[in-house]
Amino acid sequence: MEPETIKALIRRTHEVILAHAEELTDLDQAIGDGDHGINMKRGFDAIAAAADAIAELPCGKALEKAGMTLVMSVGGASGPLYGSLLMAMGKAMPEAPDSVGDIAKAFQAGVEAVMKRGKSEGGEKTMLEVLLPVATSLKDAGALDIGVLRKTADAGLASTKDMKATKGRASFLGERSIGHLDPGARSSALLIHAVCDVIEGK
Ligand code: ADP
Ligand code: MG
Repeated sequence: MEPETIKALIRRTHEVILAHAEELTDLDQAIGDGDHGINMKRGFDAIAAAADAIAELPCGKALEKAGMTLVMSVGGASGPLYGSLLMAMGKAMPEAPDSVGDIAKAFQAGVEAVMKRGKSEGGEKTMLEVLLPVATSLKDAGALDIGVLRKTADAGLASTKDMKATKGRASFLGERSIGHLDPGARSSALLIHAVCDVIEGK
């Protein structure tokens, strides 16, 4: 992957997280401890600060370094979880990915790492509500359909509203977690949209 593409991905994901940090914090205030916006901002600030060094690496190593950066800079649960996603994706990424299938396999490996790290699965009102259907949609896709990816992420996010949280801090609220969107599902949807923006050249 071209260094310029890696830089564009870092720039756009950072921009989107900064623009929505307050919203993420508000969502986390409703069912968690109100730090998700701060955690994501801290993590993506750190990745942006290392953009030049990350962008000169091959795609897989770049993902691994970005993941390590999140793990080292973010205190909350989301740091190690997103860090695991990116590090496992990086390990599974071929040197020169050249098909949707390559990306799909790497993304699947990343999502499996989140489940292992979080001891979680779908249906527990977490970021996995977005990540799992996106992984499936990538796996099933013959060609990359950005519109489908965006819709899949949005539908996954929307599905968290009526769910009861059984993992993470929101699970402490039990039934009272119902009726709120999950903050991590929102940040996952934002990141998917940011990547789609770069693919579409926005
Ligand atoms: P913390 O929960 O430590 O305050 P954040 O607020 O940054 O960390 O992140 C909370 C988000 O992390 C949740 O909204 C949820 O999506 C995700 N999350 C928390 N625990 C898990 C888990 N065990 N598996 C998957 N995702 C989780
Ligand atoms: Mg929190």
